[in-house]
Order: sequence, then structure tokens, then C-alpha cells
Amino acid sequence: MILSPSILAADLGHLAEEIAAVERGGAGEIHVDVMDGQFVPNLTLGPAVVKAVRRATGLPIDVHLMVERGDRYIDPFVDAGARSLSLHVETVPHLQRAVAHIADRGAEAGVALNPSTPLSALEEILPEVGRVLLMTVNPGFSGQVFLPSSLDKIRRLRETIAARGLKARIQIDGGVTGENVRAITDAGAEIIVAGVGAFGGGNPEAASRALIEACR
Ligand code: ZN
Repeated sequence: MILSPSILAADLGHLAEEIAAVERGGAGEIHVDVMDGQFVPNLTLGPAVVKAVRRATGLPIDVHLMVERGDRYIDPFVDAGARSLSLHVETVPHLQRAVAHIADRGAEAGVALNPSTPLSALEEILPEVGRVLLMTVNPGFSGQVFLPSSLDKIRRLRETIAARGLKARIQIDGGVTGENVRAITDAGAEIIVAGVGAFGGGNPEAASRALIEACR
């Protein structure tokens, strides 16, 4: 299990310290949730913050573009230091071209699905991506409750990836806690985004370590 703490839930006034704490706690990458106020009803962070994260840590930076036409922003985020980028299938018309461009830039390409988007939307693109990000809350805000139907969706995607002999890893984003993380990884998820679950309790190092331990 790779823990991917989302800095959306961090104390941005002490971003470097917060990142250092989750790194000590065992985080494997840092997740940056980018929202544009259009695709989702919130505004968050841009490439300047990714650059700041880059300066703060040697961990890979994973960017999740919850924006209209995320394909328009691939280059600025890769230039800023993103090691992987996920685009929402709901808003990128030429997804294969966009995914190929991410790979050409030397980053790992991911695709993201909202809770209501069926797995069938992945059928053609699945062989081309390194990860599939399944939203387990409706995107827009930190601190929401995990949608229980997501566990079955994770299992079905795991089976599809195995049956087709593909390499894509499953990433889960939304509502992960110490109570549900084990069920999520047992269902087949390998990369776990945690926002409030990692940063929300005042001790990001201990919270990160506890999430990882809960999966052992
Ligand atoms: Zn995210």
C-alpha cells in the first residue's frame, strides 16, 4: 500500500513541516488536488504550489486535475515537478492523446472517475495508464464520508485489470480513515489518498503511520 496524503487537508501555512511529518510517517508520495470551481465547486491549488512541494520533499508528487479539460494543464504541472497526473475521463474529449502526452513528458498517466461514472468508461484507455483513480466521494471538498458502494467498484476493477493482464494500479481518493482503509486495500486498491485522515488530527506523522499499519 502506498499512502498518498492530500495537502488539501494540510495546514498550508506550515506546508513544508506538514509534508516532512507525513514523510516520516511513511507516505510514499504527495497528492495535490487541483480544483477549478467549474468541474467541481471549489478552487484550490495550482502549479506554484506543486513547485513549493517539490522544494519541500523528494517524494514523488501526484497531481489530480479536477478541472475542466485537464489536458490543457499537463505541461505546467509536469514542469512544476509532477511525477504522475490523473485526468478525469468525464471532461477530456481526446483522452488517449492526453494520456500519451503525459507519458511523452516522462510522467505516469492516470485517469480518474467520479463515483457515478461506470468502469466501462475505462475500457479503451485502461492499457495505456499506470493508475486509475476512483473517487470514493463526490469531488470538491475535503472531509467527506466514503461511499460504501465503492468497495464493489474497486473489486470489479481489480478483476478487470487482472483478467486483461494489465498493470494499472488502483488509487482511492475520498473518505479514507483508519477504520475503512483495510477493507479498501483488501478490495484491491494499492494507492490510498488520505486528506483529513492524514493531516486532520494534529499529528500527521502518527496518522500516516497508523493508516499504513492498519493495512498490515
Ligand atoms: Zn485527489
